[in-house]
Amino acid sequence: MNDFWKHKKVSEFTDEEWESICTNCGHCCRIKLQDEDNDEIYYTNIICRYFDEKKCLCTEYKNRCILVPSCLKLTQKNFKNIPWMPKNCAYRILGETGDLPIWHPLVSHQPLPMEYSVKNKVINETLLSEDDWEDHITDEDFNRV
Ligand code: SF4
Ligand code: SF4
Repeated sequence: MNDFWKHKKVSEFTDEEWESICTNCGHCCRIKLQDEDNDEIYYTNIICRYFDEKKCLCTEYKNRCILVPSCLKLTQKNFKNIPWMPKNCAYRILGETGDLPIWHPLVSHQPLPMEYSVKNKVINETLLSEDDWEDHITDEDFNRV
């Protein structure tokens, strides 16, 4: 069924259906910093070293959690319990609304609009010293905070 997410519980999705929800927007691959005092999470405009910005894909998807221990494996069980997931993450939207937005490629049958992806908006972590990360804190839409 083309709009399977409307007719099935998430727990009933096949692996392929589950993966197809991801838009590869890349926002969850941005480096995030946590305030030690209040645990608040801050987004940066820095992207994980394994993210290919041109293709908007993880280059190490199978080994991602080994290579990057902080890389989250989103599953049908945990996806509703990750408060820091980006607001435009399709899994988050599906969890909150039970549907996908009109700009989602499964709905629009078009590529993800650029405005929803990190393409041309991020700096690879390999190009920066960790000491400079704090200077790159932004909000989720890349505005300086
Ligand atoms: S390892 Fe891959 S999926 Fe994980 S944060 Fe890096 S680019 Fe993203
Ligand atoms: S934020 Fe959500 S939709 Fe975007 S790449 Fe990450 S898991 Fe996929």
